[in-house]
Amino acid sequence: TVKNGSNHNYVFYNESIRRHLWEEKNVEGQMHDALKNHEFLVYYQPKVELKTGRIGCSEALVRWQTSDGTIIPPDRFIPVFERNFMIHRLDQYVFEEVCRWLRHMLDEGKTALPVSVNVSRLQFYDPDFVKRYVEIRDKYHIPPQLLEIEFTESIVFDNTGFLLAIVKSLKANGFSCSIDDFGKGYSSLSLLKELPVDVLKIDSYFFLESNDHSRDLDLVRSIIELVHKFNIRTVAEGIEVPEQVEYLKKFECDYVQGYVFYRPMPQAKYEALLDEQSV
Ligand code: C2E
Ligand code: MG
Ligand code: MG
Ligand code: MG
Repeated sequence: TVKNGSNHNYVFYNESIRRHLWEEKNVEGQMHDALKNHEFLVYYQPKVELKTGRIGCSEALVRWQTSDGTIIPPDRFIPVFERNFMIHRLDQYVFEEVCRWLRHMLDEGKTALPVSVNVSRLQFYDPDFVKRYVEIRDKYHIPPQLLEIEFTESIVFDNTGFLLAIVKSLKANGFSCSIDDFGKGYSSLSLLKELPVDVLKIDSYFFLESNDHSRDLDLVRSIIELVHKFNIRTVAEGIEVPEQVEYLKKFECDYVQGYVFYRPMPQAKYEALLDEQSV
């Protein structure tokens, strides 16, 4: 399979597969215990409202802190959880942690800003999904407007009618809904007309400096204008430089989530940040 006489590529490929399989086995072997032992942490990444320059809400992002203190990012274990049909347990764990924290904020009389959580598209096939999230929310008496559900548009291609039913049910139960990573895969603009979502998150893909960057920006501007007509708010994801913030302001994008303002951070740090903002 190697044409140029060197087998470097082959070896590299082989090694990376081996490492991958090893990692998958490791994750599989440890994920049950890790859930039991509360090794999953919720980080919060603020979304800055461009009109005011203030933190308006945040996204909950899971991290795995292993017993030796190593922090593992979600891309390394979420796919394994999905393949093993464990993802709903992880997502629910994260959702409950968020509810618990919001309850703590409310009890302390602190500013409780809305939090969005990610749900795997696999959860949408669980007939009890919405009911379970309502139960968890009610257990902590969280006002519905403080919680938002993020899902990726790829669900759409599995079954549009199905997706519509779930989103309607989430909405009927008071959750805000947002489409994550919009524009990354096969985006469907016509879908936006049907889906009663509140927020559209424009994928970082559009903000990479490419050859066609100015056309990307035209597209972003048009998407923002269009969805505003449907009363859908917009979040630009993965924004890293101030110049991007400037044009997003001009486009009247509602929120920016990106390293230019804040990275995802542990709960205590986010709480301190909110304390600072409210004085
Ligand atoms: P996502 O939902 O699209 O989350 C945004 C990701 O972009 C996060 O990566 C965030 O840290 C990263 N990000 C934000 N701003 C910037 C930036 O300016 N530059 C760059 N380079 N990256 C930025 P993270 O935390 O590693 O999460 C990756 C993905 O894992 C998430 O993408 C989401 O799809 C998934 N995920 C995270 N938490 C959960 C969860 O609780 N449940 C499920 N099902 N998926 C989750
Ligand atoms: Mg997300
Ligand atoms: Mg995203
Ligand atoms: Mg993403």
